[in-house]
Amino acid sequence: MAETHNAGYFSWEKKAAGDDVFLAEKSMFPTLAAAAAQPARDNDPAAALASVRRELGEHGGVNMSIEPSATFTVMEPETMRRMFTGELGPDRDFFIYSRHFNPTVLNLSRQLAALEGTEAAYCTASGMAAISSVLLQLCSSGGHVVASATLYGGTHALLTHFLPRTCNITTTFVDITDHEAVKNAIVQGRTKVLFFESISNPTLTVADIPELSKLAHDKGITVVVDNTFSPMVLSPARLGADVVVHSISKFISGGADVIAGAVCGAARLVNSMMDLHQGALMLLGPTMNAKVAFELSERIPHLGLRMKEHCRRAMEYAIRMKELGLRVVYPGLEDHPQHELLNSMANKGYGFGGLLCVDMESEERANRLMHHLQNSSQFGLIAVSLGYYETLMSCSGSSTSSELNAKEKALAGISPGLVRMSIGYTGTLEQKWSQFGKAISRMRDSSTLFNKN
Ligand SMILES: *Cc1c(COP(=O)(O)O)cnc(C)c1O
Repeated sequence: MAETHNAGYFSWEKKAAGDDVFLAEKSMFPTLAAAAAQPARDNDPAAALASVRRELGEHGGVNMSIEPSATFTVMEPETMRRMFTGELGPDRDFFIYSRHFNPTVLNLSRQLAALEGTEAAYCTASGMAAISSVLLQLCSSGGHVVASATLYGGTHALLTHFLPRTCNITTTFVDITDHEAVKNAIVQGRTKVLFFESISNPTLTVADIPELSKLAHDKGITVVVDNTFSPMVLSPARLGADVVVHSISKFISGGADVIAGAVCGAARLVNSMMDLHQGALMLLGPTMNAKVAFELSERIPHLGLRMKEHCRRAMEYAIRMKELGLRVVYPGLEDHPQHELLNSMANKGYGFGGLLCVDMESEERANRLMHHLQNSSQFGLIAVSLGYYETLMSCSGSSTSSELNAKEKALAGISPGLVRMSIGYTGTLEQKWSQFGKAISRMRDSSTLFNKN
């Protein structure tokens, strides 16, 4: 039954021999081909998600069953040998061991591949696991990365400190909007990867994905895009990128209760990451638990609805905050330097992202605003992370970007008073806005007091 269910869904991997980039010659896995065979009909990721193979539960349940097993039995010992040679694989529901491929994690991975319009995907235990594994897979010792100067703090530290020390993989950081600088940073023969965030953390700089991909491909370089800030809104692979990584812990999860990640890309890449001898996922083992995969899988169907509401409220608040005279950074506002660019790249109908920043100039004022927003008016919570149903606020310079030194922060455009807000969708828009207004009036009261003293 399982086999007919699968029929025509996968195709066996045929890869060019002698390619040392992905080290995939020994791959024993089939392609995880899913979404690539089914291009999004109207360029809406929702359409691609709806055409993913429908998993039903073991007893006909409308939800899929969870396969919690670490290991899998076979009817005949001979089958084991055929699995290890790659003749029988996950495409035909033959599984060996769950660090490798787990059926439930594979189902979630199919959804991620459809979301991003890539041939394959595989889910990991965290966003950092996805990022570090894919970089280690694509770069060998002595390899070079060109990366945006504005990156998530963990990724920045990985590239600045960890990879040079452990693997002799070095990075040149550039202003991702300066395409000449990107070109000049590429060292022919040594640079393997161009890495950037589609919408950067925390400055909300939007990368020109088609142009950067073209530029990198002209020099034979793989483009890896972190799309954590904009699932559904942007589809980097449909715009030319080779690999899309996610921290599922953010919008895709939406519950701030799970740490997870994903690598979405060519089947050849995902297979190479599962290789028994050379695969970063197989050998470093940042595996997602099947029970976690099931939970996350249940949240994918409403990701689009959630993103629309995050974006709608962020847009409305950005407009109103600007009217109050605050310095707002939001790519949906016409004064944002990449507003037109984002408009040209974005999937229609979702909006411009769920994050906005308010520049309060000093850390002291930033902290005072957040204090009032949380403790006087319940507008949101002072916490790092994003994509939660409640609004989360943090002062980036002293929290998630504190890995950067003062010079790196200046280069990345992170002002000490920058408050990043991930706009939630609980309560009504007007109720929440009145809470914001209350906090602002408290700010005014306290600054008047402050000035008098
Ligand atoms: C949170 C985050 C990560 C890291 O993801 P984890 O799931 O916390 O490991 C990477 N990139 C961006 C843009 C993030 O916001």
